Amino acid sequence: MSLINNPHLKEFHELTLPLTCLKGIGPGRAALLGKKGLYTILDLLYFLPIRYQDRTRLSPIGTAIPGDNCLVRGRVIYGKEERFYRRRLFKILIQDESSSMELVWFNYRKQHLTNLAIPGTDLIAYGPVNLNRNSRQIIHPEVTRLDKDNDEELSGFCPVYSSVSGISEKMLRTLIKDALDFCHSFVVDHLPEGLLLKHNLPNLMQAIEHAHFPPRGSLIDQLNRSDTSSHHRLMFDRFFLVMLTIAHKKKTREELSVPAFSVPYNLSRKIKKFFPFSLTSHQERAVKEVENDIASKRPMNRLLMGDVGCGKTVIAAISAYISVQNNKQTAIMAPTQVLADQHMKYFSSLSGVMGFQPILLNGNLKKAERNKIYKKIKEGRYNMVIGTHSLIQEALSFKDLGLVIIDEQHRFGVKQRALIGSKGDNPHILVMSATPIPRTLAITVYGDMDISMIREYPEGYIPAETYIINKDRKKWAFDIIKERLSIGQQAFVICPTIEESKETDLRSVRDMEERFKKALSPPYRIDIIHGRLSQEKKEQVMTAFYKGKINLLVGTTVVEVGVHVPNATIMVIEHPERFGLAQLHQLRGRVGRGTKRGLCLLIQDDKWSEESASRIKVLASISDGFEVAQKDLELRGHGELTGMKQSGMGDLNLGEIMRYPDLLLAAREEAEKVVDSDPGLLRPDHSILRDIMESALQKPLDL
Ligand code: ADP
Ligand code: MG
Repeated sequence: MSLINNPHLKEFHELTLPLTCLKGIGPGRAALLGKKGLYTILDLLYFLPIRYQDRTRLSPIGTAIPGDNCLVRGRVIYGKEERFYRRRLFKILIQDESSSMELVWFNYRKQHLTNLAIPGTDLIAYGPVNLNRNSRQIIHPEVTRLDKDNDEELSGFCPVYSSVSGISEKMLRTLIKDALDFCHSFVVDHLPEGLLLKHNLPNLMQAIEHAHFPPRGSLIDQLNRSDTSSHHRLMFDRFFLVMLTIAHKKKTREELSVPAFSVPYNLSRKIKKFFPFSLTSHQERAVKEVENDIASKRPMNRLLMGDVGCGKTVIAAISAYISVQNNKQTAIMAPTQVLADQHMKYFSSLSGVMGFQPILLNGNLKKAERNKIYKKIKEGRYNMVIGTHSLIQEALSFKDLGLVIIDEQHRFGVKQRALIGSKGDNPHILVMSATPIPRTLAITVYGDMDISMIREYPEGYIPAETYIINKDRKKWAFDIIKERLSIGQQAFVICPTIEESKETDLRSVRDMEERFKKALSPPYRIDIIHGRLSQEKKEQVMTAFYKGKINLLVGTTVVEVGVHVPNATIMVIEHPERFGLAQLHQLRGRVGRGTKRGLCLLIQDDKWSEESASRIKVLASISDGFEVAQKDLELRGHGELTGMKQSGMGDLNLGEIMRYPDLLLAAREEAEKVVDSDPGLLRPDHSILRDIMESALQKPLDL
C-alpha cells in the first residue's frame, strides 16, 4: 500500500484551498473563521462538534423531568428584563399544549434575547430542567428560533460547535454543509478499503459527514462520548498519522548497521556469581531482550520500565558487562550528581567481578583535572564513564563507545538522548524509567523504542506503608517521626510550595521548616531543598542528607527522582491533594529502600473535596506503580506526561490514548506495515500528506 502513489491524493490540494472558495464566505467571514484557526476547507471539515443535541426527542414541557437535559418546543407568551434583588435577569415564558416553562438568563446580550422574546415566536430550548416553585425552568438554555425553513433541523441530531464569534450556530452548520458538498465528489480516502473493512471503519468522507450530521438511528449517548464508528475512524487517522511518524523514525534507526556484540559464553551462570541473589523472572526476561538486541546487527534502543525498587540497575550492570566483554566503553548518564555518585558506588562495588574500570565525572572538577580524565577516556583507559549532563559536553569523546545507559529517562529529552548517542558510532542505548505507564501509552510516548517491563519486585521487597493522617492523628504522626529520628533514621517532609502566599493557605517548605526546627532542633539537624536553590546548593543538601548529616529534610518535589537513601524511612506529605497520584507514588518510593520498612504519611485537610479524598485513598490502597499510573490516568482523563510533547506525537492527549487502546494498537500495526513496504513515505517534501496530517492533528508536525 502506498499513499504517495495514490493517484487520488493530489485531489487533496483542493482541500487546502482557502475558505473564501466556498460560496457564502467572503473576506469578512473568512477573517472571523480565521480567528478560530479555520483557514482552509480541510480545517472546516475537521472542526468537529463538541456536543450533539438530540432533536428527535422533543419532550412536551409538561413531561420534562427536572434534573434531565431536555429539549422542548414552545411559543413565546412574553419575555422581558426583570430585576431580582440587585441583579438583572431576562425571562422568557414559553408554552406548548401540555404546560409552560420559564427560560432564564443572568448573563445575556439584551438585544439578542429581545429579538427572540417577541410573543408568538416559536422557540426550541435545550438545557437542564429544574423546578422553581412548582413550575419548570431552564437557566441559560440553548435557544433556537424556529423558522419555516429550519423545521427540518428538528428531525435529527443537532451538532453543537465551539462558538465562533460573529458567526451564528446556524450559519456555521450551513457553511460546514457547503464544505461537505464542495468536496464530496473528489475526495477519495487515503486509507485503502481493505484496511477499513478489517477494522470496521467507515470511509473518510462518510466519517466526517456523519460526525457533523449524525444519521438517523444514532444513539445520543454514543455521539456525546465520541464513541461512534465515525469518531473511531477520525481517531484512527490521528493515531495512524502519529504512528507513521514513529514507525518511520524506528525504521530509519533499524537500518543503521553496527557490529554485533558477542554475548559472553554461559552468561546466566556468570550472572549467578555476580549477585548474591537470583534474578526475578521479569529481570531474566529483560536480560534476554537486551541480549537479543545487542547481539543483532542493529543498535539497541530499549526502554526498561519498572517501578522504584524492582531492580533495574542490575539489568544495567549486566548490559555494561556485555559491552565491557566486547572491549567497548559504557557511558552511564544520571539526572543528578547524587544519583551519579550512587551509581559510581554501585558499579565500583561490582568492578572486581564484572571487570568495570569506572570513572566518575563530577561537575566540580577543576579544568586541568577534567582534561586529564577526558584524555584518559579518549585513550580508552576507562571502560565505564559515569556522570550527569556533563557527559554531553562537547569536549568529551570516547575511544569506542558501545553502550549508553540513561537513568530516569523523564529528566532527559529526546535531544539529549541523541547527543550522547552521537558520541559513539551508533551505540546501543538502554534507557531506564521508574515512571511506569501502561503499554499503549508507552508505545506512543516512547514509540521509537523497544520496551522491557519489570512488574515484579525482588523477594523480600516491602513497599512503603501508606496512611492518611487526619487532624486527630497528627500528634501520633509527629511522635513517629520523633521516634524514628531518635533511633538514627531519617525523614522527608514534602510540601507543595516553597513559601506561604496570600492566595493560598498551604503549608509551605519554610513554614514546616520553622515548625520542625522549633520542635526538634536541637538535637536534630533540619534543612530544606527546593527548586529555587542553585543546582550546586541542591546537590550539596542532597549529598549531606545522603551522608546522614541532615536528619530531617523539608522539600518540594525536587526530591522525586531516584535518590536511594536507605536510612530514610519516613515521609510526610503535606497537601497530597496537590500532587498527581503517579507523582505521589514516586515520592513514597524514596523511603524504606533499605531493610527497614518505609512509612508514608499523607496529611489530610478539612478542605479536601470528595474527589481528592477518593483519589488519595486509591494511593493508600494500591502499592503497584503500574496500577497507580493506570488509575492516575483514568482519573485525569486528559493532560499529558512529561516528554509527550517532545516525542513527535502531535497533540494526542492522554485521554484519547487511554480511551481507545485497541484503535491505537491497530493504527500502530498498520503504520508499521506501510513503512515497511514504503520507507520513504514520510519524507517532509510530501507536502500534501503533511497538510492532511497537520489538519488531523490540528498542529504542525515536526518531521
Ligand atoms: P530500581 O529499579 O529502583 O533502580 P535497584 O536496581 O536500585 O532498583 O534495586 C533495588 C534493590 O533491590 C537493590 O538493593 C538491589 O540490589 C536489590 N535487588 C535487585 N534485584 C534483586 C533480586 N532479584 N533479588 C533481590 N534483590 C534484588
Ligand atoms: Mg534506580
